[in-house]
Amino acid sequence: MFYDAAAAAENNDETYEEGEEYYEENSQTIYHSSSAFEDYNLKPELVAACYSLGFQRPSRVQAFCLKSFDEGSPSVVIQSQNGTGKTVAFLLPIIQRISRNRAAPQCVIVVPTLELAQQTVKIALDLCAKIPEIQVLEISTMTNIYGKNITEQIVIGTPGRMHGVLQRYLLPLEHIKFLVFDESDVMFDMQGNIDIGTMIAYRITRDYPGVRICFCSATYNERTNHVISILLPEYKALKIKTSQLALGNIKQYVSRCHDRDAKFQAMLYMCSACTIPSTVLFCNTRVSADWIKNKLEENGRQVDVLHGGQTDEQRSEVIKRFKNSEFKVLISTNLISRGLDVPQVCMVVNYDPPIVHETGEPDYRTYLHRIGRCGRFGKLGIALNLVDSQKEYEIVMKFAKHFQHEIEELDFSNDEHLDRLMAVHGTS
Ligand code: ADP
Ligand code: MG
Repeated sequence: MFYDAAAAAENNDETYEEGEEYYEENSQTIYHSSSAFEDYNLKPELVAACYSLGFQRPSRVQAFCLKSFDEGSPSVVIQSQNGTGKTVAFLLPIIQRISRNRAAPQCVIVVPTLELAQQTVKIALDLCAKIPEIQVLEISTMTNIYGKNITEQIVIGTPGRMHGVLQRYLLPLEHIKFLVFDESDVMFDMQGNIDIGTMIAYRITRDYPGVRICFCSATYNERTNHVISILLPEYKALKIKTSQLALGNIKQYVSRCHDRDAKFQAMLYMCSACTIPSTVLFCNTRVSADWIKNKLEENGRQVDVLHGGQTDEQRSEVIKRFKNSEFKVLISTNLISRGLDVPQVCMVVNYDPPIVHETGEPDYRTYLHRIGRCGRFGKLGIALNLVDSQKEYEIVMKFAKHFQHEIEELDFSNDEHLDRLMAVHGTS
């Protein structure tokens, strides 16, 4: 596939195609569409599952997907802010259309990480709670599927493993109807010379051209848009403007610290406030994640760390304990910047600002996804950027400019500032 990287670099990541739908959104319309779950001919078991999960109405993106699938669009490209319910948006119409009496894979969902695969499996199982015939299989490094006759209708996995399984023809695809790429812009990023998303899409669509593909993410980039234009002859899209990506319910702050030690003291202070809410702290490397975890622990704080240097079992265990609120501060790398949904997370701390490793430039998409780990589905959230140099400060200011969203200064020596911060905690 030809891809003109130079031309792409000249464009920014916002492209507007003719025929795509754009929405001017506000907090009312993002989370609550004017429709009801009953309006889309959904199976009663699915409507009941939505209510038992506590959902009152479909969110905007959910209404869009339900309507698009109802109207028979061959494929969909959805863009919607973090925490607006994209998982249920693609799962609901797909589960609706799966033949429950046919025990064979009908839907393949590819997500970037093990954590997201496990989370997506859980949501699919929750939605199918009253439809036991529909089964879900997770294909991740922990599952051994050699010699297994795969009969589950929904198969969810990470790109490397999914590709391996497809290459070895271990997944029967005769009845495949849907292919989903969640966080698709990550999947279609070049990793070395390989774009694994394209390889998976090509492998499936080559033999099964009728498969309906769903691209899903809060952010898109030029390359993903290019792949979409080649892969999908026809599709329906929901897109939003960059200026609408940063959510009003997530207050963003920047705090200037003299040096790295002062950053640590700020974090120590935050963790000592007994009201510290569930927090995700992002570092740029595994080494600094481990370092901060150890230092905070030495100072008596209950924290844990999650990164790609751990085994799958360790990672699953850490996430499970964090989701159960067994500790408050999870220190991580960009590994969990995408997709992770822990509703009680009220604060995200950028200990290091996200940058593109090769260039040192601000990594806009990662910034948005990192701060989107709090403020899920309209809840209040705090994104705190700790900076210890003019360079880091300027990077943070570029985030503010790019997303046209204010990042307020926070001074840790000013009680009034801290009271304001704690007040947001209190109300969330
Ligand atoms: P996204 O993929 O857009 O970031 P998720 O699919 O992870 O968002 O959903 C975010 C949160 O919103 C989840 O905790 C989910 O349970 C909740 N949620 C999804 N749909 C609804 C709804 N219609 N009403 C209330 N909460 C919802
Ligand atoms: Mg998601």
